[in-house]
Amino acid sequence: MSLTEKTLTQVRDLLRNGETSSVALTEAILSRIEAVDSDVKAYVRTTADLALEQARAADARIAAGESGPLLGVPVGIKDLICSDGVETTAGSKILEGFKPPYNAFVTEKLKEAGAVIVGMTNTDEFGMGSSTEYSAYQTTSNPWDLTRVPGGSSGGSAAAVSGNMAYGSLGTDTGGSVRTPASFCNLVGIRPTYGRVSRWGVIAYASSLDQIGAFGKTVQDAAAMLGVVAGHDPRDSTSLQHPVPDYEASLTGDIKGLKIGVPKQYFVDGMNAEVEAAVRASLDVMANLGAEIHEIDLNMAEYALATYYLIATSEASSNLARYDGVRYGPRGTGKDVTETTMRTRAKFGSEVKSRIMLGTFALSSGYYDAYYGKALKARTLIIRDFEKAFEKVDVIATPTSPNTAFKIGDNTTDPLAMYLTDIYTVSLNLSAGCGLSVPCGFDSNNLPIGLQLMGNTLQEETILNAAYAYEQATDWHTKRPSL
Ligand code: GLN
Repeated sequence: MSLTEKTLTQVRDLLRNGETSSVALTEAILSRIEAVDSDVKAYVRTTADLALEQARAADARIAAGESGPLLGVPVGIKDLICSDGVETTAGSKILEGFKPPYNAFVTEKLKEAGAVIVGMTNTDEFGMGSSTEYSAYQTTSNPWDLTRVPGGSSGGSAAAVSGNMAYGSLGTDTGGSVRTPASFCNLVGIRPTYGRVSRWGVIAYASSLDQIGAFGKTVQDAAAMLGVVAGHDPRDSTSLQHPVPDYEASLTGDIKGLKIGVPKQYFVDGMNAEVEAAVRASLDVMANLGAEIHEIDLNMAEYALATYYLIATSEASSNLARYDGVRYGPRGTGKDVTETTMRTRAKFGSEVKSRIMLGTFALSSGYYDAYYGKALKARTLIIRDFEKAFEKVDVIATPTSPNTAFKIGDNTTDPLAMYLTDIYTVSLNLSAGCGLSVPCGFDSNNLPIGLQLMGNTLQEETILNAAYAYEQATDWHTKRPSL
């Protein structure tokens, strides 16, 4: 196995034993990017010089006897996460050339931990999409099949890890943007509880739904990433005070007596048969490990997608009003304020524009009660569904996505088809729990399938351990694309 194919945990051991250096790892990752990223297009920009500088600093810390979960390990971050002095564009032309004057909380945490940030990964513009095709810069390919999408919107972060161009990465998950790409690229992707990770310095999409998440090739890798970036931050008023557990230590692999709920409403006629078979088989594996499988109801499931797309677009229309050409990014100068604003906002891509219009409409007086107000009521009922379910079970298991990775271009002309990708992921964001996707098989085209495990608020340890037990009993996570 080549150095870049190894897992984060494996290279961390090599670093600790002095069998490799952070500089050697970083050089290997940078050459891998050089070799394959012109095909994959996972990174919108790499920061090789900064990365090598960070690697040298990490090697000095290791030489001085320090060790840490990410010390010296090359990682990628989504192009929505601010890095001091490094162009951060949210996949949008409206932020082209924007160099934030400060680090996001998570960037700060990665740097303190001595991780090496190799670059910014591609994203759908402002995180709005399920395939990474709505980036204004490039379309990312799935390392398992370059004619297919990696999922989105954190598709660049997933393709970077899956394509062996980073050992771990950060994404954001507003409606599934970490879990879907993880499932399409055979990775573990965790979306922690709302408020678990500070969003200070992360470009906002829909503030009541946005949360940062982590990718890894294995459960332990994802747990290591999450452990470093989680924690309280007074600069994000939604950030939780609850102390951060040692996620890696919670991976015992013992799930005897764990109650797993399987919602009837998530297995409907017409769903992809290969996805259903893989997910059902994974439940058998967990039952053999001693978990109890219970059928449960999430009665509001059919309303989740409509509720999500009303709330997300409404919040986006408010958040994106700040891009007026005055404070951030390039200005489309005109003869007066109106023309300047119009020329600047013409830089938004068409998906973003249509969402701003949809959200503005849903919030407008006269339609507020019928759309945004109704969506808030539906959200409350979805939250109650989850609360009731978690009175009976510890974990909810579903497919992550109804399908495997689709062909580039297949869904770009049909927004509804694109939105349907998120049917199993958005409910979690509307409620307040945590969720992850773990590899659970391949379809007949050799494309990865993901199992979604959802937990109650702050139950990251429970879902990580359930995923770990399953992972240790199977070998899906050991498969790498032939790229
Ligand atoms: N695909 C969903 C959307 O377009 C989710 C995106 C995300 O989680 N950032 O809104």
